[in-house]
Amino acid sequence: MTNSGMCKFADDGLPPVGEVIRRYELRAKKSLGQNFLLDLNLTRKIARLCGDLNGETVVEIGPGPGGLTRSLLHEGAAHVVVVERDERCLPALQLVADNWEDQLHVISGDALAIELSELKRFVQGEDNQRFLIISNLPYGIATRLLVSWLEQSAWPPPFSSMALMFQREVAERIVAKPGTKAYGRLAVLSQWSCKVEIGMRLPASAFTPPPKVDSAVVTFKPYEMREPLASAHILGRVTAAVFGQRRKMLRSSLRQVTDQPEKLIEAAGLSPELRGEHVSVADLARMARLLETETEG
Ligand code: SAM
Repeated sequence: MTNSGMCKFADDGLPPVGEVIRRYELRAKKSLGQNFLLDLNLTRKIARLCGDLNGETVVEIGPGPGGLTRSLLHEGAAHVVVVERDERCLPALQLVADNWEDQLHVISGDALAIELSELKRFVQGEDNQRFLIISNLPYGIATRLLVSWLEQSAWPPPFSSMALMFQREVAERIVAKPGTKAYGRLAVLSQWSCKVEIGMRLPASAFTPPPKVDSAVVTFKPYEMREPLASAHILGRVTAAVFGQRRKMLRSSLRQVTDQPEKLIEAAGLSPELRGEHVSVADLARMARLLETETEG
């Protein structure tokens, strides 16, 4: 135990993460967003943010030297599937795999090139059982990954819950409410799809090396149905129009998606003078739905 009462050492029989990094010479690469978590007490708290892991399959993007991976296994995950782009991390992950027999599956590759639905094959048990995603994401691609997972047309998605680390500013954009500066496309897509909450805030000093900004973990609990029902693609077009000119009134900004913005706004029961930054997630989705039916018709 350290003076602060934080146990920095594992009780899984493996060396501390700092030692693993030294042993395999895992000098952090900025280009891969490598800011590692060495304190297993902290990674254990992150591992618990989606609730009890017993019997669950967990997907982790970017395990690096394996600190969070070890905590996921320690917290009872039946299987952990990791996707890591940096081949230098593979020996460190093999060390974890050897310790946890058949429970860790390492995929060496780029997470951006992997369809989430492909990972369903790792889930054992009932046909409709889903996996969790718990990750300290590489910041450079974190938003892109999140958007691609939420924009997929098959819903409910293959994950039942997620706990994802972002730069604090991005985390705040995900949970932002209408009328705030942070409210925009990311909030709309996230909150239309999932119940989102900030689960934990971390100072930059929690990471090695410390990034320039603080971080936060956001938890996502997907709704069984996204309501009002709409196509994620059309909602994306509507939000791009509305938030691209967020201080403009709807009747002006929506011209980008329809020749008759007033008709659309009236059908949605809104005021044409409303400004984009004040329109709720439900109202945006309702407009997307109306636009979609109009195009279909
Ligand atoms: N999970 C570790 C931890 O918490 O200490 C490392 C997290 S670090 C912020 C991000 C990890 O993502 C790094 O290990 C990096 O190599 C990996 N990574 C970066 N780009 C990736 C990509 N496109 N696909 C998969 N992994 C990637």
